Amino acid sequence: MSPRIFCVANQKGGVGKTTTTVNLAAGLAQVGQRVLVVDLDPQGNATMGSGIDKRALAASVYHVLLGEADIASARQRSVKGGYDVLGANRELAGAEVELVDLDQREKRLRRALEAVKAEYDFVLVDCPPSLSLLTLNGLCAAQGVVVPMQCEYFALEGLSDLVNTIKQVHANLNRELQIIGLLRVMFDPRITLQQQVSEQLKSHFGNKVFDTVIPRNVRLAEAPSYGQPGVTFDPQSKGAVAFVEFARELVKRVG
Ligand code: ADP
Ligand code: MG
Repeated sequence: MSPRIFCVANQKGGVGKTTTTVNLAAGLAQVGQRVLVVDLDPQGNATMGSGIDKRALAASVYHVLLGEADIASARQRSVKGGYDVLGANRELAGAEVELVDLDQREKRLRRALEAVKAEYDFVLVDCPPSLSLLTLNGLCAAQGVVVPMQCEYFALEGLSDLVNTIKQVHANLNRELQIIGLLRVMFDPRITLQQQVSEQLKSHFGNKVFDTVIPRNVRLAEAPSYGQPGVTFDPQSKGAVAFVEFARELVKRVG
């Protein structure tokens, strides 16, 4: 069977993409799924947050995109998280320029994944906060996009750029691609505005909004400095419980 390959994307920075990627990966691992995380952000936060030192990578997603390494040799194990990671670091920022001259430049990740696909149930791609060639590689490799979003005033407006990009990729490059769902993150039910935006989201997007809501929870923010996802760092915390619940919901929806 082929794995579900999903991008975690939103062109805004700081909305919870990386937190979603590593905690969803750990949650999926906990419910018995074999998971590969691909870090497509030169910041390397998903790499570090999985307990892998981005400065010590012998090979990374950068080398894979440029065809200088394969995923089987470049991937590492997040021992605490229970999943594999194709890591990234600052070098990846250069790929944007170097890829331009290569053929099939937006399909490099897709091609590289072919060789390891059979080993996983889920591949989660942590995208950078831009609609760049790197993100395009993620979108061309994936069947679906998981969009984490905060329930703030301009949330819906910000979404339209991403939705348009996904439509364009669907039309021109990848007929499989669809939005799997919108995930409400950093949610604080005491804030009336957040409840209102949450309702707006549901009336706009219907069942494309996941049932699970990820609360604002400091343990999720602390976990990366301990080199592991919140799900394993403090399994009892509200944030960890919510991400395991989300993993179950996702498996039910698409598994
Ligand atoms: P992105 O990858 O979209 O830039 P991050 O996942 O890095 O976003 O999150 C941005 C910041 O918010 C980080 O400091 C992270 O620890 C924090 N954060 C993310 N989700 C939560 C949450 N549910 N509760 C509290 N802090 C969170
Ligand atoms: Mg990030």
